[in-house]
Amino acid sequence: MLKLYNTLSRGKEVFKPRKGKKVNLFVCGPTTYDFSHIGHARTYIVFDVIAKYLRAKGFDIFYLQNITDIDDKIIKRAKEKKISPRKLARDFEKEYLEDMKSLKIDSVTKYARATDHIKEIISQVKRLLKKGYAYQIEDGIYYNISKFKDYGKLSRRTVLQAEDAVSRIDEAKEKRNRGDFCLWKKSKPGEPKWPSPWQNGRPGWHIEDTAITEKYFGFQYDIHGGAKDLIFPHHEAEIAQMEAISKRKPMVRYWLHSGFLTVEGQKMSKSLGNFITIREFLKKNSPRLLRFFVIKTLYQSPIDYRERAILQAKRELEKIDEFLKKIQDLRLKKIKDSKQRFVKGLALRAQKEFEGAMDDNFNTPKALASIFDLVNKGNSLIAQNKLSPEDAKDILKRLREIDKVFNFIFWKKPKEKIPKEILKLVKEREGCRKTGQWQKADQIRKKIKQMGYWVEDTKEGTKIKKL
Ligand SMILES: [Zn+2]
Repeated sequence: MLKLYNTLSRGKEVFKPRKGKKVNLFVCGPTTYDFSHIGHARTYIVFDVIAKYLRAKGFDIFYLQNITDIDDKIIKRAKEKKISPRKLARDFEKEYLEDMKSLKIDSVTKYARATDHIKEIISQVKRLLKKGYAYQIEDGIYYNISKFKDYGKLSRRTVLQAEDAVSRIDEAKEKRNRGDFCLWKKSKPGEPKWPSPWQNGRPGWHIEDTAITEKYFGFQYDIHGGAKDLIFPHHEAEIAQMEAISKRKPMVRYWLHSGFLTVEGQKMSKSLGNFITIREFLKKNSPRLLRFFVIKTLYQSPIDYRERAILQAKRELEKIDEFLKKIQDLRLKKIKDSKQRFVKGLALRAQKEFEGAMDDNFNTPKALASIFDLVNKGNSLIAQNKLSPEDAKDILKRLREIDKVFNFIFWKKPKEKIPKEILKLVKEREGCRKTGQWQKADQIRKKIKQMGYWVEDTKEGTKIKKL
């Protein structure tokens, strides 16, 4: 039975989706104005593992993530770079998706851009105006938080406490309450704008998420995730918008929030010079290491990134690799009674412990402990010759099951894409070899080498490698 900690109730609850095995999961995505940092990586690895675990348990997950491709930061950065906000947002969206791919974060069903949902956003703003939860001023349309009596139920703040948390887009002199936030902002000259029944403008930040989730999930859904710092005002605002429109609550049954990542005990910031992008991390380390490093900590707890802790994680991964190598060798050993089993329950127990830990609010450190326990026991059994190829087969099978969720144990580098022109040359060379034009074949090989690729003729055919 899966239990998870729900920020809304501040307690662990049994997980029960709204409709049978179908689970709608939404996680706040990136604002694409720069490269993502390792704090973002943490959040998205956490929810990737959670989605994969739910899938492994037989739930049918629709994992939706938004992409904020219009916002103040994008406009500002685009201006500095003298490119259009749209181009900047698309460029960094590409980089984001590349980072996700290298970290093997592949559980998202759909990425939805804010600017592809302007129609849905306008429809929500219209309904909020009609129902009296929003008002228009010179600067745009604002949400009146004093009208929504449940305001603060997620973050446990009051309307008055909401005052200190407005961001730049939410600033306007004529606002009715200091904490009122912007739903639709009138665009300044030169800024991107979309036509609307009001001023030509652009959406506020909070409204894009509810417009997107309403489109794909309807008024209510199962899980909303995000980093802890989004609880207020962002997620509070989402509730205020959607529940005011639908008059149904709760908008989301379970709210899951992941903890922060600090670097050497400090909040990451460009001014402190401790800002580490995913790209920078991957220059020195494998993406597998970052996945493992994140999984080592409970998703809600803070992680402090330190070089020493990274080294430690590296050593632990080596330990797993050594064990895998031994088990794989053993698996291939030909011995007489190959069906012999010495330790039937060993791997099964590890898998059960893994599930037990994950069922308890996705307790990944505890789940990892079951893997290391298996590694230690397995190593000592191998040393005593007490493990058979059949046992090894079973261990590998169970570990593969576990790795459907963790995705770091069996790590294959994603296949490198060979450029078309290289493939064409290789084909041409093969043709030459078949017809005995050895000299020409050799010339082509040299040309391929100059282009940075190496061709090798093996029994299984021609292999191409990047030099
Ligand atoms: Zn969001």
